[in-house]
Amino acid sequence: MERRIGGLETEFGLVCVRSDGTRALEPEAAARELFRPVVAQGRSSNVFLRNAARLYLDVGSHPEYATAECDDWWELVAQDKAGERILADLMARANAALAERGEDARIHLFKNNVDHEGNSFGSHENYLVDRRGEFTRLPRILLPFLATRQIVTGAGGVVTEEDGGSRFVFSRRSDHMWEAVSSATTRTRPLINTRDEPHGDPSRFRRLHVIVGDSTMSEVSTWLRFATTDLVLRLIESGRAVDVPELEDTISAIRVVARDLPGTEPLPLASGRTSSALQIQQRYLDLVAPLAREDEHDVLETWQRALDAVLTGDRSWASRTLDWAIKERLFTQVAARHGLDLGDPRIERLDLAYHDIDPEKGLASSLRRRGQAPAVLSETAIGSACATAPTTTRAHLRGRFVTASEEAHVDHVADWTTMRLVRQGAMPVSIMDPFQTESEQVDSLIAQVRALGSADGAPPA
Ligand code: ATP
Ligand code: MG
Ligand code: MG
Repeated sequence: MERRIGGLETEFGLVCVRSDGTRALEPEAAARELFRPVVAQGRSSNVFLRNAARLYLDVGSHPEYATAECDDWWELVAQDKAGERILADLMARANAALAERGEDARIHLFKNNVDHEGNSFGSHENYLVDRRGEFTRLPRILLPFLATRQIVTGAGGVVTEEDGGSRFVFSRRSDHMWEAVSSATTRTRPLINTRDEPHGDPSRFRRLHVIVGDSTMSEVSTWLRFATTDLVLRLIESGRAVDVPELEDTISAIRVVARDLPGTEPLPLASGRTSSALQIQQRYLDLVAPLAREDEHDVLETWQRALDAVLTGDRSWASRTLDWAIKERLFTQVAARHGLDLGDPRIERLDLAYHDIDPEKGLASSLRRRGQAPAVLSETAIGSACATAPTTTRAHLRGRFVTASEEAHVDHVADWTTMRLVRQGAMPVSIMDPFQTESEQVDSLIAQVRALGSADGAPPA
C-alpha cells in the first residue's frame, strides 16, 4: 500500500487527589466530572470531535482518545498531541469547577503505560492493510520487528526484579505482554490483535491492530513508531521473499530486549541461530531502505541514528530526542544527585510526572520548552489539529459534519464509517472507503444541518 491510513488510540490514567495527596474522588466520579462538558455538548460520553477524533470513557473510567484517520505520520503526531491538549483542557475546566465548589480535589491525567499498581494503559496503533494480502505471512515478518523496536521507540522506565533490585528498561510494557497474536485485547495481551473490524469495506480492507506500543510523549518517538512500522508493512505487502530473523519465543525475547540496554544479547531464533535486538532492527532497516520514497529518507536516517545511539552508547542526540533515552538521562542524573536507587519512589514519581499531560506542569512539556525534548510541531500546528481534521482522509468529511452540527446545535451521531442526524427518519451516510475526501451525500447532509440550524434560530455558521 503506497498511501496508508493509520490511527492511534490512547488510554489515559486518571487520579483525583486532595492537596495532601490522598484520594479525593473515586475514578468514576472524577471521570464524570471530567466529561461533564463533553456530555453537555454531545449527550454522550462517547463522541466524535470537530477534528474527527473519538473521545470516550472506556470501562474502568479510563478516558480514551482515538485520533482520526491520518495518512501522514507527522499529521498523526499532531492529532495525537491535540488529544493531550483537549484532555488537558477538560481537566483544567473540571478542576476549576471543583475549586469553585470549594472541594479540595484536583484531577490529574497521565498518558502513562504502567502504574505502580500494575495497571497498564493501552496505546493501540491501527494500520490499514489490503484485504488481499496474505495475513498469515504478516505476523511472521512483523513480530520480530515489533518485539525489538522498543530499543528505538520504547518509553523507558524502571522495573523491580524478583530479587528486589531495580533496573532501567526500554519498555515496562514488555513484561505485560503474554501472547504474540490473538483476537483478545485485554485478557491475553497480544502484540498484534487480529479482531477483524476493518472500519471500512471488508472486501477491500483490513485494520491491523498493534497493541505492543508504549504511549510516547516525544514527538519523534511517536512518529518513528508509525513511520517505521509502515515501511515494514510495505515490505510484507511487496510479496517478495524476505528472510527475517524469526524469534524462537517472542514473549521471552521481548522481556530480554527490554532489559538489554547494550542491545547485544543473543536471542534464540527459530532457525537455531541467534541474533541481537540491534542486529534484528538493523536487518529490517536494511530490508526496507529500498522501499522508502524520496520523502521518507529522514525516517531511515532517524531510525539509523536511534540504533547507533544504542550501539555506541553515545546518547548526545538520543537523550534529547527519544523517550527512553530522555528518561534514562533524567533518572540517572536525579538518582546520582540525591544518592537514590532507581527503585526509589521519587524516581517513580518522576516517571509519572513525565507522562503528566498538564501543559504547564507536565515534565515532558517543560523539557520540550527547554529544548531538551523534540519540538518539531509548532504550537500553531498542534492548536489547529485540536479543531481541524486531517484533510486527506475521510476524517475530513466527518470533521466537517461534526463542526457544522455543533455550530448549528443540531443533534447528530457519528462513528468511523457513518454519520447521521438524530431525528425521525434520518438516514445514515456511510463512507466505507477511508481514503474518500469528497461526498455529495455528506455535502447534502451538511446543507440539511445548516437549514435545521437556521430554522431553529441558531446563528448562521
Ligand atoms: P475499542 O477501542 O472500543 O476496542 P477500536 O479498536 O475499534 O475500538 P477505536 O478506539 O474506535 O478502536 O479507534 C479506532 C482507530 O482506528 C482510530 O484511531 C481510527 O483513526 C483508526 N481507524 C479507523 N478506520 C481505520 C481503517 N480503516 N484503517 C486503519 N485505521 C483506522
Ligand atoms: Mg479504542
Ligand atoms: Mg483498540
